[in-house]
Amino acid sequence: MLQVSHVTKKYGKVLACDDVSFHLDPGSVTVLLGPNGAGKSTIMKSVIGFLRYEGEIKVGGYDNKTSEARRILGYIPELPSLYPNLTVSEHMEFLARAYRLSNYKPRIQELFRRFELTEHTKKFGDELSKGMQQKLNICLGLLPQPGLLLLDEPMIGLDPHAIKELKATMEEMRQEGRTLLVSTHIIDSVDMLWDRTIIMQNGSIRANITKDELEKDGRSLEELFFAVTEGLEPEKDEPREDGEA
Ligand code: ADP
Repeated sequence: MLQVSHVTKKYGKVLACDDVSFHLDPGSVTVLLGPNGAGKSTIMKSVIGFLRYEGEIKVGGYDNKTSEARRILGYIPELPSLYPNLTVSEHMEFLARAYRLSNYKPRIQELFRRFELTEHTKKFGDELSKGMQQKLNICLGLLPQPGLLLLDEPMIGLDPHAIKELKATMEEMRQEGRTLLVSTHIIDSVDMLWDRTIIMQNGSIRANITKDELEKDGRSLEELFFAVTEGLEPEKDEPREDGEA
């Protein structure tokens, strides 16, 4: 569903992503973990087509900048960018028309109910609290029901109810065969949800492992994270001292 091949991105002299390659299977949830500055947002923004980069990114077999790929792709950015002069309802209406969705009104009501925005639909973008802005940001990303949804630090600023609803929604999307890529620096925020974890540090992938592989390895995600990010794990392709691959 997503194929990222040899993606390198520099901001001036800063190497934000260094030859990053990975792929995501359809109907899976992948967590992109890494400390602040690891390059997670840069990869997300490259996939969505916001940045120029070296390398190749394919979505559903199409180059990510084609209209075919854009029809499959959805994105929930880390920071909401709302229109101060549109109400909550108008934001959703605007997005539905932009995507030419049909029969979207019941789905909007359902999203408002789940994320507790029903009482706030007439508020303008600049009248919303930070948490409400983030909830609307999430509802906007969920409305088109994309085949591949990228969520950049989606739990930040959400209250426990919204976190629970978001996790439930993600699980439903997986069961519907949709593919999710979730970036976060908070390991606990994703707990049982994921099928694959990719750990980034300093612009490179330091681990790429399925939940089954990690369970066989006998380690928790937190143990793996600290092992690879705090230098306790052998580098990829580097032989261990005992000579095993
Ligand atoms: P993460 O999302 O994992 O926190 P980012 O992808 O945001 O990491 O950042 C990766 C690196 O690129 C960091 O060193 C960051 O300072 C740098 N960076 C990100 N965006 C910019 C930018 N617009 N201009 C310059 N440097 C940037």
